[in-house]
Formats: sequence, structure tokens, C-alpha cells
Amino acid sequence: MSLTAGVVAVQGDVEEHAAAIERAAQAHNYDVTVHEIRESGLVPDCDLLAMPGGESTTISRLIHSDGIAPEIRDHVDAGKPLLATCAGLIVASSDPNDDRVDELGLLDVAVERNAFGRQRDSFEAPLAVDGLADDEPYPAVFIRAPAIDDVESGDAEVLAAWDDRPVAVRQGPVVGTAFHPELTPDSRIHGLAFFENEAADVPTLEGAK
Ligand code: GLN
Repeated sequence: MSLTAGVVAVQGDVEEHAAAIERAAQAHNYDVTVHEIRESGLVPDCDLLAMPGGESTTISRLIHSDGIAPEIRDHVDAGKPLLATCAGLIVASSDPNDDRVDELGLLDVAVERNAFGRQRDSFEAPLAVDGLADDEPYPAVFIRAPAIDDVESGDAEVLAAWDDRPVAVRQGPVVGTAFHPELTPDSRIHGLAFFENEAADVPTLEGAK
């Protein structure tokens, strides 16, 4: 038996997330099978889910029209882990500050899209992230990244900040990052979201640590 993972695959960097999930699972002695989610009916079988970066307006539109959005909400309501990155974080937030994004409201945060500016459209930063298995900075890749606001008003806990702005949060089984943890070989963020979050339920497999 192995875990079943899903990567919401209506748009964005899907294969990279699938590979990162496989690396993180292996590091935690889990077997995993990863499905790409492009239609409704698959999420209910998933033990863990990733919602990638891309364009938040497009991802939001497609997951609602395909009937995937309510399944993602049910997944989180059942306590199963979700990692939402960049555009995925915007869609998972409770306030995307953009009428074209129909938010899922899974993280009590507001976001400011493209907050790190044009000039720095893409950069890598060594981030201190709370809860990682060791103290090595995480090499975080930011691409037209959002910043996270209004953390104080809800239950989200800040895991990392850059330029004094939160860029990673956790709320129960949901971890959201403004950066792209799937774009580096370092799978510690996937490990943190899926296998080291005590607030998230993942079936224990024989031999898993
Ligand atoms: N700027 C994009 C948005 O607002 C997100 C960019 C990304 O996911 N890399 O949807």
C-alpha cells in the first residue's frame, strides 16, 4: 500500500511538485503515488494535496468550473494536508485582493499579488523557516510572488518572512508559501507540509517514520 497524493493540475508547475512530493515521501520512508488532478472525483482519494503556482485568476476559475474547489475544501475539513504555493496560496487565502480570484478561504490571510515588484520578478533568498528539520536556510525561489498580510486577524501562524513580510504560513493542515519549493531539489518544505505537521492527518504506513 502507498499514499495517494494529488497535484492540482489545471495549470502551473505540476511535474515539479510531483517530483518534490516523491522526494519528500522517500525521505520519510513513505511510498507514494502521485495523481494529476484535472477533474473532479480524484481529490477524495488523495491523502495529501499540492496546489501549484501559475496564474491565480486562471487556477481559481478552472477549479471552480471543474468542481474541484469544493473537494479541496472537504479535503482540508477532513484534516488532510494541503501545500499551496504562490498562485496556489493566493487561491487558498481568505482575501486575494482581486475580484477575479474566487478564494477558497482555507488560510486566514490576505495577500498582495506580485508584491515583490517587477524589478525583482524572480530571485532566490535563503529563508529561515520555522519547523524545518534542521537550521539550514531554505533556498526559496520567488517568481512574481505575493506577500501575505493581515496574519494577526486569524489563526494562521507565520513560518517565514522576507523583507519583513510573511512569505510562509501554516494553519492546521494547510501550509502556504509565497515562493516555489518545487523548483529546488530541497524537499524540506514538502516534508514539513505533509509529513511533519502534527495538525495534519496522514495515514501511517508500515516502515514510515
Ligand atoms: N503572480 C501570480 C499570480 O498572481 C503568481 C505567480 C506564481 O505563481 N509564480 O497569480
